[in-house]
Parts: sequence; structure tokens; C-alpha cells
Amino acid sequence: MAQPIKVTSKIRLSNFKPDYRAGMSKEEAREQTTKLCFRIAELQQLLYANSNHSLIILLQGMDTSGKDGAGKRVLEFVPPSGVETTSFKVPSSEELAHDYLWRAHKAVPRYGHFGVFNRSYYEDVLVVRVMDLVPKPVWKARYEQINSFEKLLSDNNYIVLKFFLHISKEEQAARLRARIEDPTKNWKFEESDLEMRKHWDDFQEAYEDAINKCSTNYAPWHIIPADHKWFRDYAIAGVVVDALQKLKMKWPKPKIDLSKVKIK
Ligand code: ADP
Repeated sequence: MAQPIKVTSKIRLSNFKPDYRAGMSKEEAREQTTKLCFRIAELQQLLYANSNHSLIILLQGMDTSGKDGAGKRVLEFVPPSGVETTSFKVPSSEELAHDYLWRAHKAVPRYGHFGVFNRSYYEDVLVVRVMDLVPKPVWKARYEQINSFEKLLSDNNYIVLKFFLHISKEEQAARLRARIEDPTKNWKFEESDLEMRKHWDDFQEAYEDAINKCSTNYAPWHIIPADHKWFRDYAIAGVVVDALQKLKMKWPKPKIDLSKVKIK
């Protein structure tokens, strides 16, 4: 049976296979992804020409799930000037001196641009919950606040697409091992990733809750099977193309009567 990507009702993460590939081969998926990526670049041009909407691609997932890789591939043909990328790290002292959504709102892209959120304000109901960084009533109240924040964005012409890059614990082990064994990947290895891995089940539960409480028609979650990098990129690119095509954008009309313009 086909595994859904977009979340439209309550889900159990354990029902979603991280190695799902819709019966596709790597070659087939890569070929399709390239076409979709070209289309994304065309649509970004239209978005920029009109500059009255923008698109936020929000990427969440366990360490090694491919948040960086997916963003790089899907936006391969989009000019860097059209993309505003923000990585949400451990909050700075200035960020901690504000409400948790302050840094997210500051990171919202200009109209006409794409915004990539590599991690996001969802960390405030994920790592914060699992590692017990604030009292339970504080993080529990945040799901509703996040829904309100995303409604505000949606009402103001932001398309918010949220992607959970779903990898298996075995695949993460293989990717962590590669970071130790491959000298070109050594720089990516962090001991803290092993610490987080110990809390795997708690994270899965926190993700499941965030997905169930914050999947709305105006800011849907997508569960992206991410054990196969090529299927991950194909699935994300497809969602991005569909969302942008729904805008039915046209090239803006000239502001003056161009037939009267003489270029000498
Ligand atoms: P990445 O793993 O995304 O490539 P880092 O290794 O710098 O980048 O990890 C960023 C770390 O910041 C992650 O462990 C993440 O859980 C943490 N983080 C992000 N937002 C918050 C937050 N609001 N509170 C605590 N930790 C956070």
C-alpha cells in the first residue's frame, strides 16, 4: 500500500517505513528529482517576480537524517540570492532573553524568497521536552502557540511546508559510523549526537506529538521516508512543486504601456 507523505489525520510514526520508496529505483527517482528541481527554480523566479508570497521549507529530523543534504539538493538550481537559510542552534543568550518564537519570526524570509529552516522553533517542543529544559506546562502550551504563529504566517501569504525526515535507528548508526570512518566526514562527528541517540524513543514520541498537534491545513507536516537519500529528495521536491503550482502564478503585467517605449 502506498505510504502517505502529507499528514492529514492522527498518525503513529511506527506505521511509517523510513525505507519506503514507492517502488522506485534510485535512477528513476534521481531523474525525476532533477526535473522537479528545475521546475522549482522556474517557480522561484515567478515567486520573485511577483514578490507577494514566500515559501518556508522547514526541515526537522534526528541527527544524520539529511537536513543539510535535502536543502542543498532540492534548491540546487535556485540562485543563492533567492534563498534565506537559517540554522536553529542552541539559543544564544540574546535569544534566551526573548520568547522562543522571536528568533523564528526574525528568520522569516522576505516576500519573493524561499526560507529554509534547518531545525526550527519545533526544537522548543522536541529537544527542550526530551532533555527537560523547561517545565512541562511551559512546553505543553507551545503546540497551540505554534499553530497560532503558523496561522499568522499563512494569513500573510507564507506557504509553510514542514518536513520530518524519518530515518531508522539502524540507518543513523550506519551514518554515524561513516562519520568516524570516512576522513571527509570526520568533521561532522559530534559526541553529543551519541548522547541524543540514547534518547531515540523519547524523541520519536516527541516528534509524533508535534506532528499530531501541529498538522493543520495551513501548515501541514510531511513525513519523508529518509533512509534512501534519493527518495527523500524526490519526495520533498514533489511537495514543493505542488505547493508552488497551486499559487497559479503569472508573470506580472508591465507597469507602463511598453508599446510606447522607444529605445534609441
Ligand atoms: P546540526 O546538528 O543541526 O547540524 P548543531 O550540531 O550545531 O547543528 O546542533 C544544533 C543543536 O542545537 C541541536 O542539538 C539542537 O537540538 C540544539 N537546539 C536547537 N534549538 C534549541 C533550543 N531551542 N533549545 C535547546 N537546544 C536547541
